[in-house]
Amino acid sequence: MTPRTKQSWTALSDIGRVRTHNEDSVLAQPPLFVVADGLGGHEAGEVASAIAVETLRDHAPRRPDAKALARAVKAANREVIRAAREGYGKAGMGTTMTAAIVEGNRIVLAHVGDSRAYLLHAGSLQQLTEDHSMVADMIRRGQLTEAEARYHPNRSVITRALGTDPNMIADTYEVEADSGDRLLLCSDGLTGMLEDAAIAEMLGGYRDPTIAARTLIDAANDAGGHDNISVVIVDIEGDGSARAGASVDASGARAGRGWLAVIGWLLLFTLIVGGIGVGSYRYAQSRAFVTSETSAPGPSKYNAAPVTTVVVYRGVPGSFANLAWNWRSEVTTIDVMLLSPAEQARLAQKITVASMADADALVAQLRATAEEKLRSQQPSTAPGFAPSTESSAAVPTP
Ligand code: MN
Repeated sequence: MTPRTKQSWTALSDIGRVRTHNEDSVLAQPPLFVVADGLGGHEAGEVASAIAVETLRDHAPRRPDAKALARAVKAANREVIRAAREGYGKAGMGTTMTAAIVEGNRIVLAHVGDSRAYLLHAGSLQQLTEDHSMVADMIRRGQLTEAEARYHPNRSVITRALGTDPNMIADTYEVEADSGDRLLLCSDGLTGMLEDAAIAEMLGGYRDPTIAARTLIDAANDAGGHDNISVVIVDIEGDGSARAGASVDASGARAGRGWLAVIGWLLLFTLIVGGIGVGSYRYAQSRAFVTSETSAPGPSKYNAAPVTTVVVYRGVPGSFANLAWNWRSEVTTIDVMLLSPAEQARLAQKITVASMADADALVAQLRATAEEKLRSQQPSTAPGFAPSTESSAAVPTP
């Protein structure tokens, strides 16, 4: 029985200081982690990145299988193209996508565009992905230096994206990381504002991935915050059995050489407690609930308004025997402000469901409602529109 362990991954997205809306989408649903940076402007970029992430999530493998992950990215590409053709979003909308499946110390990546994956190993930062951008091509041809690229007028022109070419193929990478390494997925709103050396220092400077992510976002905002900033951090746990998630099965994690002893001990334990504890634990693990959480405001005076999004937990709300029997499973990008006051209130009080599958179904339904609301918001409201917490007073606190 494991209490809620130290969070070993995080996913944050920030509007930045210049843009009026956030076109990035992020997903952290272990073993899958994704950053997508939408292109095409308001009512297009965020639609493209959201469709891409949602489709990827539905098609991604549960294991680190690079070919299957690349196929899922192709499905996401087709879906963005189809949506634009059907008048959902705008013609010409597109998105980058950098997706990772993490299992133990194995990482597979599928990548399109200029969002990036980095690995921090022993204090040094290695860029895992190659940008599909005009300036990256010029650097490869020796026509431009990294430093010049940073200020090049065409620095944001990308040469490959989801949503344009039906035959698009994602680059894939397979990485064997070490325990203690840190994986970073980010949009160009981070790398356009901060040098790799600064990213390395902040990424490695905090044990808590959420604090590291928040520090990186604050620094990008302090440097100007010219674009939306998305940061996903995953701590690599290493032994091949632990999932890169907030939930760690203690028996699984400690198995290995002494597994017979562990099983024996567990049998004895089961006899002693009459199965009650273990049964309750199993029960908790089979259940799920859906609620809303507000992204924690960081120390910077430049923070955008915190956004409250839909969050999924495995387990049951509350605690028992001083242990929280729930494990955060997914932080979605669904802004609760796009849902009805009734739905917001239900979420605030936690919606308990029978299984993770039911939780997924509920999230899909909420996402559809939010997207419908987003589509119905006419351009007249566009200039000032940004995720706002103004009406959050209407939401009862749990
Ligand atoms: Mn961007």
